[in-house]
Amino acid sequence: MALLEIRGLKVNYGPIQAVKGIDIDVPEGQIVALLGANGAGKTSTLRAISGITKRSGGTISLGGEVLEGRASRSVKAGISMSPEGRLVFNGLTVEENLKAGAYIVKSAARTKENMEKVYELFPILGERCKQQASTLSGGEQQMLAIGRALMNDPKVLLLDEPSLGLAPLVIQDIFNTLKKIRSEGTAILIVEQNALATLKIADYGYVLELGTINIHGPANELIKDERLIEAYLGGKK
Ligand code: ATP
Repeated sequence: MALLEIRGLKVNYGPIQAVKGIDIDVPEGQIVALLGANGAGKTSTLRAISGITKRSGGTISLGGEVLEGRASRSVKAGISMSPEGRLVFNGLTVEENLKAGAYIVKSAARTKENMEKVYELFPILGERCKQQASTLSGGEQQMLAIGRALMNDPKVLLLDEPSLGLAPLVIQDIFNTLKKIRSEGTAILIVEQNALATLKIADYGYVLELGTINIHGPANELIKDERLIEAYLGGKK
């Protein structure tokens, strides 16, 4: 049984069926990629898993516990999301942003420990800990958004397009850190349009097309899949 199991997930917005009954497994210790074009339903999937958007059907379980769909419950169970567009608190410092992220951790000592872990993963955030978030670079803000999601000790980290608008070297840096996060025991479900870079670090991948998953498999096989190469990996090789 996978750590995070999604079965028959549906998300409707009125008459619009954005996600049409999909299955996703995120095993312990793995990075799983959810790829697809604009409007395929990737963000809706992540928001439904984290309980921010109400799902219209399906089940979600984490470590065998069935989650009924409230966001606060999902965070307590161990699901933490870093949303698209970074969305850090601009008026707060790096340190204050991280503290604000730790809203289910009651112990100050534990919060401090988690903050130290974030600074180990992203040393630049440690150097900038007293700096206001609005003055950080795009890459640093993305690091802060991921760091903030890690402050609740998640079992699964949900990431919505962490590479959006960032330079290739910064993306590489962040993706290397995702590998480190995986090796330290947090599983990751990552939504990305940057399919090639993502499949290089992922263990498994799903491709969402108009709310349906037609292609999925181990990342090292998907990277060679003709259908993906044409649609997402920059044409025929
Ligand atoms: P992108 O990469 O552009 O963010 P996505 O794959 O994340 O796309 P979603 O944002 O999940 O896709 O959107 C899936 C579909 O649902 C789209 O057709 C979108 O217009 C629609 N949709 C998303 N949110 C809402 C909403 N709140 N109300 C109505 N329709 C919505």
